[in-house]
Amino acid sequence: MTATASAADSTTTPAAALPPRVDDALVARLVGHVAGSGPQRRATSPITGDLLPAVPSSTPDDVAAAAARGRAAQPEWAARPVKERAAVMVRFARLVLAERERLLDLVQWETGKSRIHAGIELFGLPAITAHYASEAPRLLAPTKVASGVPGLVRAEVRRQAKGLVGVIAPWNYPLFLAVGDVVPALLAGNAVISKADSQAPLTLLAARDLALRAGLPADLWQVVAGSGSSVGPALLEVIDHLAFTGSTATGRELGAECGRRLIGASLELGGKNPMIVRADADLDAAALGAVQAAFSNAGQICIGVERIYVHHSVHDEFLRRLADRVGAVTLGFDYDLRHEMGSLTNADQLAATRAHIDDAVAHGARVVAGGRARPDLGPLFHEPTVLSGITPEMKVHSEETFGPVVSVFPVADDEEALTLANATDYGLSASVWSRDLAAGRALAARIHAGSVNVNDGYLSAIAAVAAPMGGMKQSGQGRRHGSEGLLRYTETQTLASQRTPMPYPAERAGTYLTAMGLAMRGRLAATSVRLKIRPDRRNRR
Ligand code: NAP
Repeated sequence: MTATASAADSTTTPAAALPPRVDDALVARLVGHVAGSGPQRRATSPITGDLLPAVPSSTPDDVAAAAARGRAAQPEWAARPVKERAAVMVRFARLVLAERERLLDLVQWETGKSRIHAGIELFGLPAITAHYASEAPRLLAPTKVASGVPGLVRAEVRRQAKGLVGVIAPWNYPLFLAVGDVVPALLAGNAVISKADSQAPLTLLAARDLALRAGLPADLWQVVAGSGSSVGPALLEVIDHLAFTGSTATGRELGAECGRRLIGASLELGGKNPMIVRADADLDAAALGAVQAAFSNAGQICIGVERIYVHHSVHDEFLRRLADRVGAVTLGFDYDLRHEMGSLTNADQLAATRAHIDDAVAHGARVVAGGRARPDLGPLFHEPTVLSGITPEMKVHSEETFGPVVSVFPVADDEEALTLANATDYGLSASVWSRDLAAGRALAARIHAGSVNVNDGYLSAIAAVAAPMGGMKQSGQGRRHGSEGLLRYTETQTLASQRTPMPYPAERAGTYLTAMGLAMRGRLAATSVRLKIRPDRRNRR
């Protein structure tokens, strides 16, 4: 069941020959985790086209009941010392590692991704957990700040959990994204309701199974299931914060609904991520980096590269090396590490991929590598594809494909590359390649994107979980990872206290204002000295 991406006549074993390594007893246990009494729904296996196990859907009443349980359980959880909550999450992450083979099977079964891409996803979860478990005690601790009357008034900033957090994330990274956003919410002292994606519910349920084994009280993290349009409205009615990952179109709708309810939302949305290859780049490394950034997870990765701008002096050579690399990608499915790229996950993504390629070719684009669906490998396989000759009227020029398609453009110089890289409504991720690290970093800093990698396609920035990850412009609002990824699940509370009460007497209001004026002059003078701001002689009084 192996094919190189460009081999036209490779003989293959159909994907249906591979049995999923998940037994019925495990499936029954996982399905039992759904807070749902509605009709059963079944997703389709991307690998074989067969139906996956039935999962009950959640009715509005199920969602309301889950919310009531979560709210009842949350205060006791929030009252526990942060380190106690962190211990539960670290035990959970250890179990994820211990059970990784079974989890990887599940991820692959539901998404069709290759073992290597499932593995990269899985190992991200302990990384996120270790980061937040070590940082949460510091980040959530009360912080003393300067008060209006130092010495007499004490002011501190405290963090309270939001209460009940809703987490919605798509099928493409059911562990790294869907569970990765739950961990900090729980650590911050919240209860969580996840809406399982309809394509990949079992992986999420398996993670909850492990969390309960790690000692998490069951009502703290509940899972509802069903289509977004049926479960979403009920969920949005009951939560205090939404962590959403998905398309810009859905994010905009849900963000508007959160605005109506005046609850916070962090929205991790789509991208059309650029890569810039400078004239001095290591072309072999850049070509390999482009393959990894464009075709990881079969291109169904929000931070994947879809546009490559190459200095004209190296454009043809880069394109040749890229085509060679793409031609050597092994495409197919197995539960080992034999294939670099697996299947697309659902029929919509295959249709979107075909639509972009067909439209581009119809308008005169050239297929440099790949270009074909591969039903001989399984119903949703598609070759990694490189296009050139892309013009603005083609869909693939500016619309997100979210599939295994990348377009390559020649540019005159760095400035043109930068202008084109920024000429998008999105701003999620970007990549710059250069042997001159300082020049590469300087160019990277001018790109309007939440994450930029230099001499790497996509992985370095997201693997730096201590740094925030998220989008500018239409790619989102808010950030996951870093400190923001935890603090978004909290409300700040300013607590000011006076050792000796000193309400100002109304009869001495004039004296009071004079004293305040003097105090403010003093503060501005001290600030000016600290910042070396010279006095403005013209306006001196
Ligand atoms: P989508 O259609 O927006 O769906 C995303 C998730 O939202 C799914 O689990 C879906 O559930 C749920 N959903 C849809 N409508 C809903 C509603 N009205 N209420 C509540 N939930 C609702 O996105 P997609 O096409 O599946 O995912 C691909 C997109 O996600 C791409 O644009 C990609 O760039 C983006 N993405 C962004 C990031 C990031 O970190 N920025 C990461 C990954 C993906 P059901 O499918 O079960 O209905």
